[in-house]
Amino acid sequence: MRTLKIIFSLISTLLLSVPSFSQSNKNMSKDKIKTLIVDGQNNHEHWPKITYMLKMEMEKSGLFTVDVERSAFTWKGEEFLSDYAIVGMDKTEAMKDPKADPDYSPDFSAYDLVICNFGWNAAPWPEKTKKDFEKFIKKGGGLVVFHAADNSFPEWKAYNQMIGIGGWGDRTEKDGPYVYYDDNGKLIRDNSAGKAGSHGPQHEYQIQIRNSNHPITKGMPEKWLQTKDELYDRLRGPAENMEVLATAYSAEEQKGTGRHEPALMVLNYGNGRIFHNIMGHADYSVESVGFMTSMLRGSEWAATGKVTQEIPENFPTADKSSSVKFD
Ligand code: ZN
Repeated sequence: MRTLKIIFSLISTLLLSVPSFSQSNKNMSKDKIKTLIVDGQNNHEHWPKITYMLKMEMEKSGLFTVDVERSAFTWKGEEFLSDYAIVGMDKTEAMKDPKADPDYSPDFSAYDLVICNFGWNAAPWPEKTKKDFEKFIKKGGGLVVFHAADNSFPEWKAYNQMIGIGGWGDRTEKDGPYVYYDDNGKLIRDNSAGKAGSHGPQHEYQIQIRNSNHPITKGMPEKWLQTKDELYDRLRGPAENMEVLATAYSAEEQKGTGRHEPALMVLNYGNGRIFHNIMGHADYSVESVGFMTSMLRGSEWAATGKVTQEIPENFPTADKSSSVKFD
């Protein structure tokens, strides 16, 4: 399938370049973090809308310009695709075999940051594209993966090193340990046999910060409530060069593990920085101020190693989630 290159940013760059007295030089397009969202086949019906939401929120922050490159996908959720104006998307193209996309070859080197929005069924990338991507991250490129993107590409060793832990896709003890915190606050790497990845019913759950000195989490309340979402548990993988910044308690009454599961993580791969966020199942989960703030801060950190953004005043608290309806 011909890769559909979507450059919304041309339009938004034009809009943002209208002279404004309040806009400082650092917000000029040339200094912004050049971001590429890679998406395509996904078992989550809201995925095109979520790409659109991320792009809009990131550009609204004044820190990022965002392009999208879409690999082959199965046509699902037509309503969402048409509502969120995915330029160049065409139904005939979309229905082609999504098991592979031999022409998918984004120019990663033109960007500072890549965000993965795929599901477990993402069309495998061509070998050359994988190598280009590995080189990009090794040389210091930033990467953000969230929710089902940690289900993708189970066979791709370097990708699994980048995400640290993942689920589904026949991941088992052969891929690395389960990683979680116990009730005493001890990080456990558990090599016991078993499948990776599960979740109970969607619900609001509490995020517990484990390192409040990291640029991404600094200033966040120690506990905050995520809007209705899936709480991934039993993730496993190589988990090398990985730090868990926050966990979420996976309660047995929610069909969970009774463990504190990793929710926000940072990793290094070569010189590259990676931010991994397990949240973001549906559009309403992405409307969460906690989720979006984590993504914006995680994206800035992955690209630059720093975070300049403030924690917004409507950030969730330990017992109250916070959402802003996207329209
Ligand atoms: Zn999900």
